[in-house]
Amino acid sequence: TPKDLIVSFGEMLIDFVPTVSGVSLAEAPGFLKAPGGAPANVAIAVSRLGGKSAFVGKLGDDEFGHMLVSILEDNAVVTDGILYDPAARTALAFVTLRSDGDREFMFYRNPSADMLLKESELNLDLLKTAKIFHYGSISLITEPCRSAHLKAMEVAKEAGALLSYDPNLRLPLWPSPEDARDQIMSIWESADIIKVSDVELEFLTGNDTIDDQSALSLWHPGLKLLLVTLGEKGCRYYTKDFHGAVDAFKVKAVDTTGAGDSFVGALLCKIVNDHSVLEDEIQLREALKFANACGAITTTKKGAIPALPTESEVLELIQG
Ligand code: ADP
Repeated sequence: TPKDLIVSFGEMLIDFVPTVSGVSLAEAPGFLKAPGGAPANVAIAVSRLGGKSAFVGKLGDDEFGHMLVSILEDNAVVTDGILYDPAARTALAFVTLRSDGDREFMFYRNPSADMLLKESELNLDLLKTAKIFHYGSISLITEPCRSAHLKAMEVAKEAGALLSYDPNLRLPLWPSPEDARDQIMSIWESADIIKVSDVELEFLTGNDTIDDQSALSLWHPGLKLLLVTLGEKGCRYYTKDFHGAVDAFKVKAVDTTGAGDSFVGALLCKIVNDHSVLEDEIQLREALKFANACGAITTTKKGAIPALPTESEVLELIQG
């Protein structure tokens, strides 16, 4: 049977990660160039697992943009929906690894090419072939990519795609927390599948208790599946008919970057060819076990994209 296409939309950038922690950016002896951007991580997660995947977005016509496209191509992600902006540069993030383990980011986005994607530049034919259309919310921050984002959602939905939303809050990028909340909620009710982290659940509800009641306060009538990821505590799921939790796998985590994207990519692979995963609790729990295993493996290696597993690696962890 032919595999159905998952299209991911939004930002792709390069993180400059210092080779040592506990020093300022200026003092770092060197940097590793780590490709990232949540929707791009999802696109690669899907294709590593053997799914059919495309990425839609804009990059600078510079060495970084070309490097990112070749990473997508090396991973068999369809790149027909990617454009180069001749006048703008690829987004970059300079990371400081603090000695307490936290990360600080400084962004080159003034504006970067990804924020300059225009509605008229969308590859509509590609969008219309999507069976799942996945996106975040960073592309809602400014025009023109905000309109492009809304149009892409509309085109995919009209052509019959399920819409999958991971707000992927990166608060420092927004003009204000209120703006972030308003923009995120402005597209909430179009989504069929929504995944939030525990931190996003707290932010969006304004309530620091993570429980069924707080999760269900984000429910909307057209929603088919709401997921809350809880790191080493696994995930919770909510549908109109049932809800529950699936435990995480125990692994030695070294870098959790990309775990959520890996989780989403894995789950979408399970849903794309069989929508009954959304209605049958036993099938959904199996799919979430697979997604948890995929997320867990991603934490065992440094970086996001280099750590995304193949299907056989995931099955190996599940089967012990
Ligand atoms: P996000 O990156 O969106 O914050 P999480 O960190 O919650 O997402 O990770 C997504 C999923 O990856 C979790 O639901 C879990 O299954 C898995 N995962 C993340 N961190 C760990 C960990 N330390 N140990 C085992 N599994 C993990």
